[in-house]
Amino acid sequence: MAKIFCVANQKGGVGKTTTTVNLAAGLAKVGQRVLMIDLDPQGNATMGSGVDKRKLELSVYDVLLESASIAEARTQSAKLKEGGCGYDILGANRELAGAEVELVEVERREKRLKRAIAAVESEYDFVLIDCPPSLSMLTLNGLCCAHGVIVPMQCEYFALEGLTDLVNTIKQVKANLNDELQIIGLLRVMFDPRITLQQQVSEQLKAHFGDKVFDTVIPRNVRLAEAPSYGLPGVVFDPSSKGAQAFIAFAQEMVARIKAL
Ligand code: ATP
Ligand code: MG
Repeated sequence: MAKIFCVANQKGGVGKTTTTVNLAAGLAKVGQRVLMIDLDPQGNATMGSGVDKRKLELSVYDVLLESASIAEARTQSAKLKEGGCGYDILGANRELAGAEVELVEVERREKRLKRAIAAVESEYDFVLIDCPPSLSMLTLNGLCCAHGVIVPMQCEYFALEGLTDLVNTIKQVKANLNDELQIIGLLRVMFDPRITLQQQVSEQLKAHFGDKVFDTVIPRNVRLAEAPSYGLPGVVFDPSSKGAQAFIAFAQEMVARIKAL
């Protein structure tokens, strides 16, 4: 059965989508079967996986409204396959923003995605969910179906403070909706070892969270930032770049960690 992970942090622009698509590609590269779910109306993970969000016939929106199954709505990108990193994509676009309102009246609305994933779970080793920068109904749907949360974060001054809300939300979801949920790990991203403050915050993180901090550190690397404009994860766009190498190492660390779960 697939291991299901949300990539979440309510802070915007911290590297959630970059982490999701590159981890998906990295896991595919090391032989894992992966489904990537874009749960953000911005559709960045969809575009960054080489799927045009404006041309989606079916998306995660239809799955949440139960007008399509994941088997019907998922798609693939030929470019990813050519790069040896093919994974399945359940895309998103602006339409998804409406789901929040449309689901207000619906019972057990936070469990919709969970039910949909159950039907395809046996086909995958990993399901990765890219969450929007909020603790909204959409993020809640992601958290309800996940075994764990991967939290990408920049080692900045307010990093620890910002984590409190997320940690509390995860505790509440665990208590009320999904007792399996846990933080799998904090991933240090956009890291620049030349900046003393970043090193200090990184040490603080390790002191606070111990082995909940992933060993792999993702460096700031311009190739990772360039890749989405080519509709590719950095891992496929420039496999030899430092950023791509770090995400391959992270994929290997994840495979090792889930064996120990
Ligand atoms: P949002 O909250 O809007 O969904 P996000 O948390 O998904 O944002 P990303 O879109 O992954 O964040 O990253 C924000 C910006 O930082 C993007 O322009 C991305 O290309 C860039 N970026 C992410 N990781 C790195 C990195 N390791 N090195 C350089 N640039 C990066
Ligand atoms: Mg994003």
